[in-house]
Amino acid sequence: MILLDRLLNHKDEYDSFPELGKNMVCPVCEFEYVHTELPIIDSCVGKNGCIKIPMYCEDGHAWELVLDSHKGLCGISVRNIKDRLE
Ligand SMILES: [Zn+2]
Repeated sequence: MILLDRLLNHKDEYDSFPELGKNMVCPVCEFEYVHTELPIIDSCVGKNGCIKIPMYCEDGHAWELVLDSHKGLCGISVRNIKDRLE
């Protein structure tokens, strides 16, 4: 499982839009130009389902940012990393 810390941009020069919050980067190549797609409600660990946010970087990698909860515990993780060109 990818550590979420790898998703955060630690280079201050790219925090040019502070109103967005902390900038995210690609968990594979750390490219700072990443995009979100429409969220998906899916079944995961919790009985209420989870929220998957498909994301991709402009260098060709894709992944899902997943929010999942079970019995009051909520987790956030990166799953299904793949090369969009495959
Ligand atoms: Zn990438």
